[in-house]
Amino acid sequence: MQIHLGDWEDRILVQNPATGDIVTSVAYMGKKETTDAISSAYNTFNSWSKHTASERSKCLRKWYDLMISHKEELALLMTLEQGKPLKEALGEVAYGAGFIEFFAEEAKRIYGDIIPATLADRRLFVLKQPVGVVGAITPWNFPLAMITRKVGPALACGCTVVVKPSEYTPLTALAAAELSLQAGIPPGVLNVVVGNASDIGDTLLQSTKVRKITFTGSTAVGKKLLAGSANTVKRISLELGGNAPCIVFDDADLDVAVKGALAAKFRNSGQTCVCANRILVQEGIYEKFANAFAKAVQNLHVGNGLVEGIAQGPLINEAAVEKVEKFIKDATSKGANVILGGRRHSLGMTFYEPTVLGNVNDEMLVSREEVFGPVAPLLRFKTEEDAIHIANDTNAGLAAYIFTTSIPRSWRVTEALEYGLVGVNEGLISTEVAPFGGFKQSGLGREGSKYGIDEYLELKYVCLGNMKEAYTK
Ligand code: NAP
Repeated sequence: MQIHLGDWEDRILVQNPATGDIVTSVAYMGKKETTDAISSAYNTFNSWSKHTASERSKCLRKWYDLMISHKEELALLMTLEQGKPLKEALGEVAYGAGFIEFFAEEAKRIYGDIIPATLADRRLFVLKQPVGVVGAITPWNFPLAMITRKVGPALACGCTVVVKPSEYTPLTALAAAELSLQAGIPPGVLNVVVGNASDIGDTLLQSTKVRKITFTGSTAVGKKLLAGSANTVKRISLELGGNAPCIVFDDADLDVAVKGALAAKFRNSGQTCVCANRILVQEGIYEKFANAFAKAVQNLHVGNGLVEGIAQGPLINEAAVEKVEKFIKDATSKGANVILGGRRHSLGMTFYEPTVLGNVNDEMLVSREEVFGPVAPLLRFKTEEDAIHIANDTNAGLAAYIFTTSIPRSWRVTEALEYGLVGVNEGLISTEVAPFGGFKQSGLGREGSKYGIDEYLELKYVCLGNMKEAYTK
């Protein structure tokens, strides 16, 4: 929320979505501060990229250690500004810090190549060099991990970064940046600007000093950034929205399927890009699954994430609740039935009852678009071919889940799914050691894992010629 305190100063009020309390305020930045941050990153690039891999690795490792030793404080900030339960916030600190640890190790493994020469007097090499200054724009749903997933590999290979976190969650970002300084990462290597999103975004896009944009957020903003990068031909990575199918076959283990679907749907109150958005259930197991799943959902306690035992915090803002209401109204007007929930929670604020909808079909908004809230729509299907068709009938292609005890089926369906991540009999699949990214309009590029570092590297081919003399002496 932005407030105007007068001509001389604007501030962003950081609000606790569980209580409405103002946690604190931070400076509201725009074009000027972003230009300064880009200059600072640009000036530091020369020295940071010349640090040895081992020096960069040690700084990153120290940063990781500091995040872990401050995990309670980071998690508390996250719950206060974002609303997720403290236990989930602690999980995010471990996951987010994990990217820094992983890329501290990868920093030492950025190898080039020697190519067998085509002419006797030549030697051919490939060098890998950092792309330069990176602009990183991140969302509120994972206030730490979406930053470290970008900054870890960027810093590991010698890039410097300007990060723009969401205006809803600047505190976790600022705390992490402060810890980076304490870890010995030089000032100017990691810069954070918070404020006017389009001014900051446009300044990053227009600058010829910024060589790469990396973005996690909605598909609509991602498309703007992709178009905006054209003018200066920047490298770009996009981690965008999903519409994850979660397919439960007749031969699934019911307990495994319920547990997996619950985790895939309700983590972060349904506000993740890999959340199961459509639960496709084969007709033979539909009734049994719907009953067991609704029972499990009923046990999810809703409330302030600081309270022990809470599994579902508030949604991020009023607009998020209104979107959920709109999708449920659309679904019920077209024949869906509310099995559980379907209303704002009696706690008020932006709390919403964990909801299960039955008899959903693929014409309803709730299965066409990302609901980004605690609503689990159940769709009935007949055959494996039907399930694959429904699952792939979307422009998104981030995560998909399947539940089956048949090994041949698990391979067949996995290979047929047009998705970047597939969970088989598992609902929680994100890890720093595996590549994360989408097919189709869910994005470009991959983050995390050994593949994630390539996004921040340029390949330089070197041809060493006129070597005849060296070999004839
Ligand atoms: P969003 O509205 O696209 O915002 C993401 C970031 O972009 C925020 O920092 C936002 O700033 C900024 N932004 C907004 N308009 C901009 C502009 N014109 N130029 C530059 N930056 C701009 O998305 P969100 O609602 O925060 O996040 C939810 C979306 O992210 C969902 O669609 C979800 O699926 C997706 N997501 C994807 C992944 C993935 O890895 N694929 C992971 C997490 C989330 P302000 O917040 O300050 O306005």
